[in-house]
Amino acid sequence: MHGPISRAELAVRLGLSAASLTRLSRPLLDAGWLVETDDHVGGAVGRPVRPLDVRVGSAWHVGVKLTGERAFGVATDLRAAVLAEATVDLPGHDPSQVVDAVVEVVGRLAAVVGTAPPDALGVTVGGFVARSRVAVRAPFLGWRDVDLGGLLAAATGLPVVVENDVVALVEAEHWFGLGRGLDRFAVVTTGAGVGYGLVVHGRQVRTADTGLGLGAHVPLDPAGPTCPEGHVGCSTALLSTGSVVARVGEALGRVVSYDEVLALAAADEPAARSVVDEAGRALGRLAGLVADLAMVEAVVLGGEGIGLVDVARAAFDDALASGRDPAATPVRVLVGESTFDVWARGAAAVAIQSRVGVVGPGHDGPGVTRPR
Ligand SMILES: [Zn+2]
Repeated sequence: MHGPISRAELAVRLGLSAASLTRLSRPLLDAGWLVETDDHVGGAVGRPVRPLDVRVGSAWHVGVKLTGERAFGVATDLRAAVLAEATVDLPGHDPSQVVDAVVEVVGRLAAVVGTAPPDALGVTVGGFVARSRVAVRAPFLGWRDVDLGGLLAAATGLPVVVENDVVALVEAEHWFGLGRGLDRFAVVTTGAGVGYGLVVHGRQVRTADTGLGLGAHVPLDPAGPTCPEGHVGCSTALLSTGSVVARVGEALGRVVSYDEVLALAAADEPAARSVVDEAGRALGRLAGLVADLAMVEAVVLGGEGIGLVDVARAAFDDALASGRDPAATPVRVLVGESTFDVWARGAAAVAIQSRVGVVGPGHDGPGVTRPR
């Protein structure tokens, strides 16, 4: 997360003496996990230092995001940089069909990337996941209590981690993305749904309700549209791509895509501009609420629908500012890429974390399902 990093700084972070750190890092260097970078930077006394870093090419991982329609996969290096992508349509929602699709994704990626099999497989679903393994509720797949981790470990022979998709995306931002190095930040995603996650003091907050999507139905505008749950002006009603597309389509009397809506709004077509600005205001209000109540230093915006913030930036900024005390420290707004592979990259991030034992509720659960 913090590398490349000098031995001196690492020793301070770990509370170790320089001698201990040298002794402990040697076997990791010898085993090829760490490298000394050539990056000579002046130390405190002007001596050249050789910062330590993980060897990013020493392993590769597969992350797969499951939707109701397809298995979308990426192969990544040890810092979750995408090396290749592969997508397989799901022929149905029977667990065996979904497992077969994931196996095919892994095979396609291995054909492009691997001389050796991947080190671990991470798979994410929208819904509630228990013990980094069981899809307790996955509404897009119509599943209850499917041991996806067990099935995939048996089918692939790989260590497998199953996780909620938003949780995994937050971990990716925390370790490898826009939240890298931040002590307190929130993540808001827009796309098919609205996702929310929170990192406080360097750890993602997890509760018994993690996976329910508690950020999805926050009331933001009493005059807003109604979501399928009947909430007036909630985050899903204002921000989900389906809702935005439906409202612009209704106004124009034809079917429009989300990308088309954003292009029309950017060209100041009145209906699209109105709906996208309304969404931008709602997102700004949500970011302001999060900053006020969770006291974060930054809000990371992500998900495949987040392109709206570029088009409606003025509305977003106005709403965010109006919800904050003028004397408050300005909240940093970090906008991620609006591509779908951020979700699969999240799945790869939890696979990477599983290699170093940082996975699962409280990081102490039976996080990884290993093949028998
Ligand atoms: Zn709602």
